Order: sequence, then C-alpha cells, then structure tokens
Amino acid sequence: MVKRITRISNGVNKTVELEKLNQEIKNCKRCLLWKTRKNTVPGDGPVNAKIMAIGMAPGVEEDKIGKPFIGRAGKFLNKLFEIAEIKREKVFITSPLKCLPQPPINRKPKKEEIKACLPYLEKQIKIINPRRFILLGEVAFSVFFLNKKLGDYRGKLVKKEDREYFVTYHPAAGIRFQKFRKILEKDFKKIGETIKDF
Ligand code: URA
Ligand code: SF4
Repeated sequence: MVKRITRISNGVNKTVELEKLNQEIKNCKRCLLWKTRKNTVPGDGPVNAKIMAIGMAPGVEEDKIGKPFIGRAGKFLNKLFEIAEIKREKVFITSPLKCLPQPPINRKPKKEEIKACLPYLEKQIKIINPRRFILLGEVAFSVFFLNKKLGDYRGKLVKKEDREYFVTYHPAAGIRFQKFRKILEKDFKKIGETIKDF
C-alpha cells in the first residue's frame, strides 16, 4: 500500500515537473527559431514511459498543432509501431529540437540550434527516466553517440549505462525511399521482439 502511494505521488511530481518544463519551452528564446514558430513541440506521451522515441525536429504540421509526429512521417511511424506491436500511447515521443527549423521551411536543424535546445531533452530524460530509446535518424543518433557512425549502430540494440538504445533511420527516409522503408520495417520488428519482457 505504501509503495503504491509512493509511486502515484512520484507520477504526480513527474507530471508537474514536465508541465513546468513545457511552459519553459513555450517561452524559450534560446535560439532564433522562437521568432518564426507557431507552436513549440515539446513532445508527448506518458510521464512514466519506458520507451522514448526521438526524432529530429517538428515539421510544418507539428508546428501548427504543437504535437510530435502528426504529419506524413508520423503516419508512417504509427505503422512502424504497429509492426513492433507497441502502443504509440505508451511511448514518449519527442525530438532534440522543439521548434520548426526555418528558413527555408523544414530545413535540417543547425548544430547551434540543437546545442541550444538539448538541455530540454536532457531534462525530459531525467524526469521520465525511460529504459529504452528508439533513435530515429542521424540527428537523434548524434546526440547520444558523439563522433560515431550511424551505419555501425543501425539495427542494433546498444546497452550503455543502464539504458538501451535502438538505432534506426528517420521515418521520413522511409517515405522517400523504398530501401529505407524496408529497413525501418525490419528494425521495428526487431524492436518489438526485444521489448517482449518490458
Ligand atoms: N519529424 C520529426 O523528427 N519530428 C516530428 O515531430 C515530425 C517529423
Ligand atoms: Fe528554444 Fe529549442 Fe525553440 Fe530554439 S528550438 S527557441 S532552443 S525551444
């Protein structure tokens, strides 16, 4: 009984902390993207999520609504979660950048933007404390694996300091190229198989 209460209150604390962080992100002016964003996209999912999926940056659709992965890449990501037999609602989904990169609209994030925004992701990880990360593409990968090559890690489960990382491509690559789609589908099948004991 005591344990149960402790766990619930932890959940409440986490919710409050995450809400505070979201407010901080909403007011953030640490890089120039604050000037052009419609909405910040801090991420979405349960505060106690065991899995955190990390993309690149919000796109146009995400910027409009303030939620991650709701555009075309998001639809494909839903399909990938289905392949893995993971419920999307159980995953905390976010990205290293919380505002839409522009101009030009939807460009790749700049190094200095990622550097400015990274403390927010680090704080989210501290609060949520997930066991497993799904790193979607180069940007997410480079945040966790400095000076390493994605090709050496893709499709593998890497254990590092009590945490597990599964590295794969970004779903947007799978929309554009059949070759990447096939690999992403294969990788998510493997992700599903490796979390059966979660
Ligand atoms: N791509 C991302 O990396 N994140 C989103 O939220 C949408 C597209
Ligand atoms: Fe702040 Fe990140 Fe948005 Fe830049 S991208 S303004 S650092 S929240």
